[in-house]
Amino acid sequence: MSAITNHLPTAELQALDAAHHMHPFTTNDELAEKGARIITRADGIYLTDSEGNEILDAMAGLWCVNIGYGRDEIAEVAARQMRELPYYNTFFMTSHVPVIALAKKISELAPGDLNHVFFAGSGSEANDTNIRMVRHYWAEKGKPNKSVIISRHNAYHGSSVGSGSLGGMSGMHAQGGLPIPDIHHIEQPHWWAEGGDMDPEEFGVQRAKELEKAILELGEDRVAAFIAEPVQGAGGVIVPPASYWPEIQRICDNYEILLIADEVICGFGRTGNWFGSETMGIRPDIMTIAKGLSSGYAPIGGSVVSDEIASVIGGSEFNHGYTYSGHPVAAAVALENLRILEEENVITQVRDVTGPYLKEQWESLVDHPLVGEAKIVGMMGSIALVPNKNSRAPFSEAGTAGFICRERCFANNLVMRHVGDRMIISPPLVITTEEIDVLISRARLALDECYAELQKRELL
Ligand code: PMP
Repeated sequence: MSAITNHLPTAELQALDAAHHMHPFTTNDELAEKGARIITRADGIYLTDSEGNEILDAMAGLWCVNIGYGRDEIAEVAARQMRELPYYNTFFMTSHVPVIALAKKISELAPGDLNHVFFAGSGSEANDTNIRMVRHYWAEKGKPNKSVIISRHNAYHGSSVGSGSLGGMSGMHAQGGLPIPDIHHIEQPHWWAEGGDMDPEEFGVQRAKELEKAILELGEDRVAAFIAEPVQGAGGVIVPPASYWPEIQRICDNYEILLIADEVICGFGRTGNWFGSETMGIRPDIMTIAKGLSSGYAPIGGSVVSDEIASVIGGSEFNHGYTYSGHPVAAAVALENLRILEEENVITQVRDVTGPYLKEQWESLVDHPLVGEAKIVGMMGSIALVPNKNSRAPFSEAGTAGFICRERCFANNLVMRHVGDRMIISPPLVITTEEIDVLISRARLALDECYAELQKRELL
């Protein structure tokens, strides 16, 4: 058999893919019939597929390629590290230079006294660490009953058994026996879909108070922590009302529970600051990090924890760790990525120039007949597709408009994702204002074509 390379015809690659590769979050039989889109290379914010199409990636892969594709410096660092020390573990009282340097750098960047990093291979693994760490923390403090972690419906915290349990995705809970015990979900601050007649700010406070209600119902002596994404990502880029986070912080301060900010998407510049916690004005005890930590160039994640938690955990053996905790190549890659983000002022550019420009352009989409609202923080945005602009009522057949719109985006060489009937973006942070213009014009084209298709199908 000939070697499998970029030079094989697309149909052949698709057939091989369908025969042997099981895709995540995919109906594989359906995909096999259709054939996967094969991405062959990428540079900057553009992907190239096996048919030679140049596609603007407005999702930065899976919200992760913050510095854009094709940075040679990262490839060089990875190659050098592979030659010098491709692998060693951080168990059994050993360490190595890349992990030491990366932990120090993250501690410098992280807010407050979050000065300690427990590494993992992904965001899911890091959130699994968090479950065990906060329960162990309270047990070490003589409060073993504080084991309940409060999360939110429609949150996404990963796909492992633990992190999938923390998440509030009903489709995930329906498969494989999730959630694990002692995870409690409260309602999300999604005003557009669930706010009814309430004023958004009033609704934000009401949804935050759900946390207090849950703590009182479960008992403060039972609750270990509250976990949330500063801005919900996979749930549909749901930007909470401004009143939400201050009230959550007040409640966390008032009761003896830990606040875990899941910064897997929001971290490393996505919201215009290093961390979403800074944008939202919160003081977490633990931050989950992954994705933008290495801009996706190597798999790495971690939990960044406070001095207090580290000192309590440090008193005895924490029976937890992964083969790839602090992998030297991933650590070296992450460090180089952070150097690029910092030295090239990528995040200040998002905060001061490209972020405000994207916001203006993105919000202008509300003049389209299909768009009910447009929300954006830094470089993560969403629009709600609606059948009637005069109300917030959803389409009767949820998800069809979003799916059609996503297909029209692809047809116009743009990657936008849909969550139900919300279209979402999270482009590489290095996107320029000229490239934002291309993104918006392709999005408009896709919206027009989607609108025409919905009219044809009499769904409007
Ligand atoms: N937390 C959040 C907020 C995420 O968005 C994701 C991934 N989309 C995860 C955790 C899980 O990360 P991973 O896929 O690296 O396991």
